[in-house]
Amino acid sequence: MIEMQEKIKIKTKYCPCCGSDDVTTRYLKANIVSELIMSKHISFDEIHEKWTPVDFSLPVIYCRECVREYEIRESDDARHDASCVSLGLLSPQQIKAIRRKHGFRSAEKFSSFLGLGAKTITQWEARRRIPNKSSVILIKIFHALGTEGFKECLQKHKDEIKIQEERSYLFVASKMERRGRRKGIKNSNGYNKNPKCKRWKKSVTDES
Ligand SMILES: [Zn+2]
Repeated sequence: MIEMQEKIKIKTKYCPCCGSDDVTTRYLKANIVSELIMSKHISFDEIHEKWTPVDFSLPVIYCRECVREYEIRESDDARHDASCVSLGLLSPQQIKAIRRKHGFRSAEKFSSFLGLGAKTITQWEARRRIPNKSSVILIKIFHALGTEGFKECLQKHKDEIKIQEERSYLFVASKMERRGRRKGIKNSNGYNKNPKCKRWKKSVTDES
């Protein structure tokens, strides 16, 4: 059982039902795996394979006008974070904390530094996507080594890393070549050079 210490900051100031500002916020104790079982979102097999029970703080709002409690946007954010931790990944707040600790102000720069897609870290921090396990391992290695240590490691093993890169480049190139032979390679205007291609014929007639 994991207990999450971090709490989501509640920004909602109005009742989601009547819009009244006569509200108070609080955190309920919740467990992500219990919730998933209750809502039948995952099967028991999946829980045993992938999910670890995680206790987390669920933000809610109490409206004095409605005389009842509501879940808010932040409730889902808290669930998202707990799911990340439960799956053995890093939560958006943990990723942000690691990034800032190592002096990266921009999520995009951090993402590029790690060799991930430019928007990848931004999307994880904004809870638009759940991180993937291999990238999380990469972030954890980076966190353990620090910026300089990470760079040194890349430098030290540059031959191994380079070989793999070249292989993947070669793979992509051979795949493109094969595809090109089959379909005709696109020129810089994006038109297909294969004379049999209808789109190419159309583009030529359009131009003339
Ligand atoms: Zn209300």
